[in-house]
Amino acid sequence: MTNTLYDSLFSHHAGNNAPFLQLDDGQVVSYDAFLKRAAQIAHVLRTSGVSPGDRIVVQARKLADTLALYAAAVQAGAVYLPLNTAYTLAELDYFIADAQPAMIVSDSTNETEIGKLATRFGAKLLTLGGDTSSLSREADAQPHEFETVDRAPDDLAALLYTSGTTGRSKGAMLSHQNLLSNAQTLVDLWGITSDDRLIHALPIFHTHGLFVAMNTSLLAGAKVRLMEKFDVSAIVEEMPKSTLLMGVPTFYTRLLEVDGFTKQITRGMRLFISGSAPLLAETHQAFEVRTGHRILERYGMTETNMNTSNPYDGERRAGTVGMALPGTEVIVTNPETGEPLPQGEVGMIEVRGPNVFKGYWQMPEKTAEELRENEFFITGDLGRYSEDGYLSIVGRSKDLIITGGYNVYPKEIEDVLNDIDGVLESAVFGIPDRDFGEAIIATLVAEPGSQLQVEQIESIIRNKLSRFKHPRRYELVQELPRNTMGKVQKNALRERYANKER
Ligand code: ATP
Ligand code: MG
Repeated sequence: MTNTLYDSLFSHHAGNNAPFLQLDDGQVVSYDAFLKRAAQIAHVLRTSGVSPGDRIVVQARKLADTLALYAAAVQAGAVYLPLNTAYTLAELDYFIADAQPAMIVSDSTNETEIGKLATRFGAKLLTLGGDTSSLSREADAQPHEFETVDRAPDDLAALLYTSGTTGRSKGAMLSHQNLLSNAQTLVDLWGITSDDRLIHALPIFHTHGLFVAMNTSLLAGAKVRLMEKFDVSAIVEEMPKSTLLMGVPTFYTRLLEVDGFTKQITRGMRLFISGSAPLLAETHQAFEVRTGHRILERYGMTETNMNTSNPYDGERRAGTVGMALPGTEVIVTNPETGEPLPQGEVGMIEVRGPNVFKGYWQMPEKTAEELRENEFFITGDLGRYSEDGYLSIVGRSKDLIITGGYNVYPKEIEDVLNDIDGVLESAVFGIPDRDFGEAIIATLVAEPGSQLQVEQIESIIRNKLSRFKHPRRYELVQELPRNTMGKVQKNALRERYANKER
């Protein structure tokens, strides 16, 4: 009997009474207790008619039982499908129609409406974490052991939808081996052990919070301080008792805004990791000045888990995502021909390795477009290698601006803008233009208390960038539109300003 992921992440913790999850209310769940709970939930899945290979849609709070449900799905051979808790009923409809799950687990806020959806698609509905919690209640009555269902390395463990930053979310089919291989690599590279205590303030419906953070902790037997919500002062409070933080860049900008966040507080911390969106070099430097720690930035995506990381030992270079993970190939190619490009040139980032997904769910054409026959996955991100092998991400190919026949990388302009005194951050994008194909628009957020003068910004840009890269317009905004993972939504910006252009 073997189950690739369960055998490596979970089953070896049977009888391990060390703490695993430490919750907001102070409750501690040991590894052994967690496994017993997962077994109880696995029984509920089975008695509810979930068969191996069936999808389980989960839109639920960040609770110990939600994580136990993930473990239970793996143990029962089902395919775990977590969804952003912010998704509305209409959005839920799309995912359920697409994934055809056998079961839906949701908090009870919209029980009646979700119940109708479940009936329409022939799925069983259970609730978790609301006023009624039928899953938890049914689990309470079940035995603490469950006979693990056989799963081979290539069987699916999860169907994870992309964040929908560039278009409609796509379901990435992730196998047991995809998830396990990446967790093993990261544990080795980042030196995670049972001595670690991770501050976990990320959502658990996304690859970052669920796989990067939880799979590595499970593999290493680390302690996890599971915070239901992101709360910067609670994070600061936990720091003296912790060793590890995984965050999106906004975690770090928010931490830097806390007055009492000092070197002293971070003394026991071993590692700060950032990903999911670009970390400004400025934030990297300010964080080092404040704490003495150099943030380790890494790069990944739903379809592949993690691809590159800055070194644990060695230089963590601001503004770069480091080098390919061991066992994974990351190359930069000519987007037209697919031929590898020399170092220093900007091109399409492609990835090959045991971490690369099995394709998009129900989208054979999209899969064929993005997964080459030689097994390289075309990420849609543009990047460049430095001479000494550090990869920088220049932006997404969909965000590349083509104006008057020239290619303009928004990041190049954003970097100049962000360096200007008084500019907190910026986003540059193209909107349709009759004469040039696309026109460049820059949105700027001022640092608190500073007044930005557009004329002054224009003159700095004129001095630093060639004419075809000059934005046609500058818009001062209060904040950039971001999704829950801290990603700037350029689609939303393009729409907003395309309509304003006469
Ligand atoms: P969709 O594919 O639906 O448009 P998405 O690509 O935002 O959404 P995710 O899989 O959550 O969905 O995000 C992966 C993307 O996040 C990467 O392709 C990359 O553009 C970005 N990303 C991740 N880590 C970094 C990083 N360290 N620096 C810059 N960008 C990053
Ligand atoms: Mg994507």
